[in-house]
Amino acid sequence: MNQPILIVGAGPAGLAAAHALARVGQRSVLVEKEDRLGGAPILSGYAKLVPSGEWARDAIGGMVQRVESETLVEVRKGVKVAAFDGAPGNFTATLSDGTSVRAGAAILTTGFTHFDSLNKPEWGFGTFPDVVTTTQVEQMISSGQGVRCPSDGRKPKRVAILLCVGSRDRQIGREWCSKICCTVSANMAMEIREELPDCHVYIYYMDIRTFGLYETKYYWKSQEEFKVKYIKARIAEVTSDGDKLIVKGEDTLVKRPITIPFDLVVHAIGMDPNVDNKSISSVFGVDLEPHGYLGRGNFYGNTAETSRAGVFVAGAATGPETIDDSIAQGSAAALAALGALQPARASA
Ligand SMILES: Cc1cc2nc3c(=O)[nH]c(=O)nc-3n(C[C@H](O)[C@H](O)[C@H](O)COP(=O)(O)OP(=O)(O)OC[C@H]3O[C@@H](n4cnc5c(N)ncnc54)[C@H](O)[C@@H]3O)c2cc1C
Ligand code: SF4
Repeated sequence: MNQPILIVGAGPAGLAAAHALARVGQRSVLVEKEDRLGGAPILSGYAKLVPSGEWARDAIGGMVQRVESETLVEVRKGVKVAAFDGAPGNFTATLSDGTSVRAGAAILTTGFTHFDSLNKPEWGFGTFPDVVTTTQVEQMISSGQGVRCPSDGRKPKRVAILLCVGSRDRQIGREWCSKICCTVSANMAMEIREELPDCHVYIYYMDIRTFGLYETKYYWKSQEEFKVKYIKARIAEVTSDGDKLIVKGEDTLVKRPITIPFDLVVHAIGMDPNVDNKSISSVFGVDLEPHGYLGRGNFYGNTAETSRAGVFVAGAATGPETIDDSIAQGSAAALAALGALQPARASA
């Protein structure tokens, strides 16, 4: 019997890879460092996903259940891979609990790390309790608590969502666009307006990138049906007058300074490279791309390849990705990894 395939990281991409392999009768070992499967949508408590509108706990939770009930998938939670040796068809991974796993190939689906807004101190996070992140608002909604000001639990009457926090920002070494935060923010703005119809919601942006089909469903709908206001601006700082939060900056369309009071300010945080990537690169002997994500060996042939034969990559480990694209890449990586076992199978 051929060796199992090692999958590292049990977010949407890793779960999709494990499921795809099980469907064709291939065993896998799914290694997850946390004690729960599901990746960012489950671990960070996302609410309703774009574009399906399904709750993350149902959509991604369903993927978790499917994999956990699959006899061909061996799940190892709370561990990392400490060493990885061998060649395609015959690798050995040593896990951080000291156990060893034999594997014919490996798929890295280790995802991303949420940008830490403390790295953008002038925008008030960490100083004012009512400056929060999109993940915190997702948690308020998914817990059923509703959108509230953390300082005193009141319902906000004015909410500002600041886009591109930790993305497209050369000053803090993050040049990339995180791809999904415009759409997530437009969706969140509509959810806030739905829950709190008297609340005014403003989105401050450099550019709006509700790409592809999301333009109609999120950008236009949020303005036309939900009366969300979009202001093209350069934000300088978020302060407080003791009562309200004050967003200061420049409206870059009319080229005038702005100073506007809010009850709640939301940072639309971006997707940083996984903080583990340097160690993953060294353990697996794979190259990083210049921003610090795991590098792809090939863009047009086998897109799941890394710089090391027999080791594949998928999802947000490669750069900012949406869930549906991460799932598609996870399935593609499963097929690529199966292909890598073929010579081993032929000679078995
Ligand atoms: C606020 C916010 C809201 C979002 N909402 C949406 C949305 O509505 N729709 C959408 O399409 N996309 C959304 N996204 C993007 C979405 O989070 C990603 O597309 C998705 O999580 C990528 O899946 P993944 O499996 O590649 O990575 P992840 O979800 O990051 O999963 C990676 C997994 O690997 C594990 N891991 C990491 N390092 C190691 C290691 N060294 N060893 C073992 N395990 C490890 C992690 O614990 C995690 O379980 C949102 C992003 C943000 C920031
Ligand atoms: S998707 Fe929008 S908010 Fe996110 S980094 Fe790109 S432009 Fe900024």
